Amino acid sequence: MIYKPGYLKLLESGELHHRISMLRQHLEKCRLCPRNCEVNRIAGERGFCGAGIKLEIASSCAHMGEEPVLTGKSGVGNIFLGRCNLRCVFCQNHSISQPAGTVPERWGKSSEEAAEALLDFQERGCRTVGFVSPTHYAPQIFEAVALAAERGLRLPLIYNSGGYDSLELLKLLDGLVDIYLPDFKYWDSAYAEKYSAAADYPETARQAVLEMHRQVGRLRTDSDGVALSGLIIRLLVLPNGISGSKKVLRFIAENIGNDTFVSLMSQYNPMHHAKDHPLLSRSLKPQEYSEIEEVLLSLGFEYGWTQDPVTSPNNYLPGSDFIL
Ligand code: SF4
Repeated sequence: MIYKPGYLKLLESGELHHRISMLRQHLEKCRLCPRNCEVNRIAGERGFCGAGIKLEIASSCAHMGEEPVLTGKSGVGNIFLGRCNLRCVFCQNHSISQPAGTVPERWGKSSEEAAEALLDFQERGCRTVGFVSPTHYAPQIFEAVALAAERGLRLPLIYNSGGYDSLELLKLLDGLVDIYLPDFKYWDSAYAEKYSAAADYPETARQAVLEMHRQVGRLRTDSDGVALSGLIIRLLVLPNGISGSKKVLRFIAENIGNDTFVSLMSQYNPMHHAKDHPLLSRSLKPQEYSEIEEVLLSLGFEYGWTQDPVTSPNNYLPGSDFIL
């Protein structure tokens, strides 16, 4: 059976354009993310993330640096959006997510240009396409998806976010996204506030992953083992227990199930402002990572990927090991 992506079904039913117009309404009084800045982006105001009305694409490429189930042989057709609704002091993509001053003019793109990029990935043999850090540009990127779908896009769509997504937004995305790929960065609100300026991150991420799972369910793949739909949760283990990864894993096991696909990452390296924060100013110790791996196994997780804590801080590639 040929897989039909969710956005295509909604295009055919006429619902896709209705959703896009609901998303666009947010731009007048922006509540696209939990910060609820309520700025009028159409009138040129900017909120916490700094995003305006024009889509900003920092880069795009067929990207092999994702979990193997997403990349297949040709890579994920990834579009990396500029800016972010989080402000992580350790962000490895800070030049994109937290640009200092004016951003390069070449970032500014129309939804038509983004649609072209999606179609180009499909032509080049990518099996999935994705948006990285999409939350603050949700209206514009789904306009691009609609345009591309009208012109033949048929690939599963990945929504790769930092996990700081409101239920209000996610309800509007129900049926539009095939694969959710959120981070779950912190369990502890004080750390989330200190290191990402988002005290409500843990509660938001808990609700977000539950809603994402409700929408897309467990990860499904085609006969080649390439993802079609479902949820993958990424956990970057931070030094000194800052990410609370054991509690996050327990939450996932108890509330979603230990058959959830998780990507347990050991690639933390102190970047950006991390050196100014003593608890984040060093790489992860292999011992710290193996403690989390033990919890992962003791909770009965069977599906997902782990990384080699010795090599990963230098290559940033997601693990290729299936846990079992
Ligand atoms: S998307 Fe940006 S402007 Fe809108 S609420 Fe979030 S941080 Fe504020």
